Amino acid sequence: MIVVMAPEASEEQIQEVQSRLTHMGLDVHRSAGRERTVLGVSLDPGEADRDHIRRLPGVRDVVRTAVPFPLASRDFRPETTLVRARDAVIGGTRLALLAGPCAVESEAQTTRLAELVAAAGAGFLRGGAFKPRTSPYSFQGLGEEGLRILRRAADRCALAVVTEVMDTSHLALVERYADMLQVGSRNMHNYALLREVGKSRKPVLLKRGMAATIEEWLLAAEYVLAQGNHQVALCERGVRTFETYTRNTLDLSSVPVVQSLSHLPVIVDPSHATGRRDLVAAMARAAVAAGADGLMIEVHPQPEAALSDGMQSLYPAQFESLVRDCRAVARAVGRDL
Ligand code: PEP
Ligand code: MN
Repeated sequence: MIVVMAPEASEEQIQEVQSRLTHMGLDVHRSAGRERTVLGVSLDPGEADRDHIRRLPGVRDVVRTAVPFPLASRDFRPETTLVRARDAVIGGTRLALLAGPCAVESEAQTTRLAELVAAAGAGFLRGGAFKPRTSPYSFQGLGEEGLRILRRAADRCALAVVTEVMDTSHLALVERYADMLQVGSRNMHNYALLREVGKSRKPVLLKRGMAATIEEWLLAAEYVLAQGNHQVALCERGVRTFETYTRNTLDLSSVPVVQSLSHLPVIVDPSHATGRRDLVAAMARAAVAAGADGLMIEVHPQPEAALSDGMQSLYPAQFESLVRDCRAVARAVGRDL
C-alpha cells in the first residue's frame, strides 16, 4: 500500500502519518520525490485502517498498488531512482558503463583493463573475485586477493568497483573493497543474501535469475528495498530458453517492461546474454536503443587465455568500437554515454 501526501503537506503531518502506520505494526519507507512525498508499506493493513489513514491531514490518497512490489513500483517513486557509487551514477540521462574482466586473474590484467575501460568512459570496473562457476573444478576466483587487486586498479583510474558477493558469509569482506555489490543470476532467489545486502549501505546490482520472470526479479529487488536499502539497480542478462546457438536468450523487452513497472534503473549485460563475442556489440546497441540505463560488458586483454568466459569477452579494440557505436545510438535516443 502507498500513501501519497499532498504537495503542501507539512513535515509534522508526514511524521504523524508515519507514526500511525508504525503503530499499525507496518514498516514504513519514505520516498521524497520532486513533487510530493510518498510513504510505502509492504503489507496492506486492511480497509478500516486504510480509511483511517486517508482521513489524516495532509494525505492526498491511499493506493493499493496493482503490483506485489510496492517499494519497487513506479507508484512509490515516479522518477527513476539514481543509483550512485562514488562518482558513477546509474539511471541518469548519461548511460552507465560497467566493464572489465569476467574474473580478476592478476594485477597486470586488471590494471590494464581498468585503464582501458576508464579511457573509454566507463564509471565502473567490474570483475569477479568470487566466481559462481557451474563446475566445481573451474577457476573459482582469487578471493580477497582479487578484491585487493580490483580496488587498487579502480583507484588508480577513479573507477567504482562492482563485484559479486556470493554468500552472506563473504558480505563484510566484499563490502570492505567494493563500491557496489553484485548479486548474480544464480543467487537472485537467495533470500537470505538479498536480506543481508538490503541491510548494507552499499548500492546493489541485482541480476535477473536465468529462469526468473520479471515479477520474480522485481520481488527479489523488493526484498532488498524492504530492508531499507533503496539503492538498487537491475541487470538483464538473458534467460534460459530452448535456443542453443546463444548461451542465453536476451530478453530486451524486459527493459521497457521494468521501466513501466518500476523506478529502479535497469542495465543490460549482452556478454552473459549471448555468450558469444561476435554478438555482444550488436546486442549492446540494441539494448541502448531499447532504453537501457547502462551496459555491463566483459573485456579481456587476451580472451583466448581467459580463466573464465573467454568466448564472450571482447578484445580491447572491439570494446572501444562498441562504446563508440553505442554512444551514437545513445544520442539518437536522447541519452549520452
Ligand atoms: C557475472 O556477471 O560475473 C556473472 C557471473 O553473471 P551472471 O550472474 O549473470 O551469470
Ligand atoms: Mn562472466
